[in-house]
Amino acid sequence: AVFDRIDAVEDKIKAYVTLTRDRAFARAREIDRKIAAGEEIPPLAGIPVAIKDNMCTRGVRTTCSSKILYNFVPPYNATVVEKLEAAGTVMVGKTNMDEFAMGSSTENSGFFVTANPWDLERVPGGSSGGSAAAVAAGEAITALGSDTGGSIRQPAALCGVVGLKPTYGAVSRYGLVAFASSLDQIGPFTRDVTDCALMLNAICGHDPMDSTSAPQDIPDFTSCLRDDVKGLKIGVPREYMGEGIDPAVKEIIGQAIKLLASLGAEVEETTLPHSRYALPTYYLIAPAEASSNLARYDGVRYGYRAEDARDVVDMFMKTRSQGFGPEVKRRIMLGTYALSAGYYDAYYLKALKVRTLIKQDFDRAFEKFDVLLAPTAPSPAFKRGEKTDDPLQMYMSDICTLAVNLAGIPGISIPAGFVDGLPVGLQLIGRPFGEGTLLRVAYTFE
Ligand code: GLN
Repeated sequence: AVFDRIDAVEDKIKAYVTLTRDRAFARAREIDRKIAAGEEIPPLAGIPVAIKDNMCTRGVRTTCSSKILYNFVPPYNATVVEKLEAAGTVMVGKTNMDEFAMGSSTENSGFFVTANPWDLERVPGGSSGGSAAAVAAGEAITALGSDTGGSIRQPAALCGVVGLKPTYGAVSRYGLVAFASSLDQIGPFTRDVTDCALMLNAICGHDPMDSTSAPQDIPDFTSCLRDDVKGLKIGVPREYMGEGIDPAVKEIIGQAIKLLASLGAEVEETTLPHSRYALPTYYLIAPAEASSNLARYDGVRYGYRAEDARDVVDMFMKTRSQGFGPEVKRRIMLGTYALSAGYYDAYYLKALKVRTLIKQDFDRAFEKFDVLLAPTAPSPAFKRGEKTDDPLQMYMSDICTLAVNLAGIPGISIPAGFVDGLPVGLQLIGRPFGEGTLLRVAYTFE
């Protein structure tokens, strides 16, 4: 049924870089055989899943939507891919994204632009726009994305689906192509909160292959799906409801607050005083890490190699000039500048200090509150091309999500309503490893 749907709408949506139809049918037949033979089947047996194209899949092209990796076929699976396979899912394909996950609209893909299923003239958000659009359009039942500064939650909001960024370290990054290693986390896109809990059950857990993976016991997240928020303390940071947020979005968030209060939650305004520094801090730290992580694409080890080079240095330069798109180049320049000898203390080191202040704002808020509530994105899906000429405008789309990555804490976006037929997301932010509480509050809205 999912492939029928793909045949019907993929021409317009363009969610996938690669479809793995034959593999998927072979695997589905294998599961059918097991069922017919009365064998035990795993919990997500036969569930069609889409994987963002920055997670390594053995034998299946993994491009990061970049020309520099257009022909890269990994010899191994990311841990999440292994885990989903063990849980019985069937991979449908690899989804389009902003090149190397740098962007908020999927317009930075080196290949093509993905459309928002609610309005084909609009962007699906990004960088995991292909995954969000695939789930929203019924081209997959669930999908994986990665979130460095909002890239799961923001496209989930713009496409009207559920998206969760887990606590840093909750899900293994082994086999996730690194953008900013101290911020990147993998998480699920689903149609509802129950599916989100099931996906978390499948992908969370310690992995010795990732040195930043947390040695945490994982609960059964479905046990958190209680329709009860009585007595929970929910904080609404005033910095997330101020200037720059579309009044129609604020209105919908206001309705959600009323609903939670009517169900017995204690909702109160609070403050995260360093919020306004999140954007500049992120745009120093993320490009700094990216500039280092992307040094490996040199035409020797992976993917694309420029022809007609005079010598090896010329080959590096031509490969990188031709292989990377403009936004990736901008990030590499920002990052190498912030890390260079004369500027390191003034920019990179300063940003690390402000990151600690941002983290401490959240620590203080969580002394009082179980969950924080905010919009996911400042506006519903914008038109294609609307922000492509102004990088700062594009960066502002993540104003509500960036700080969560800097603090390493979990955040979920759930559909909360519509403005002019376009979905609006509500964001819930939790304590480290507080995913269960997020799911509990989110479940109220189903
Ligand atoms: N839009 C932000 C950026 O461009 C965040 C991207 C992400 O979370 N991968 O860096």
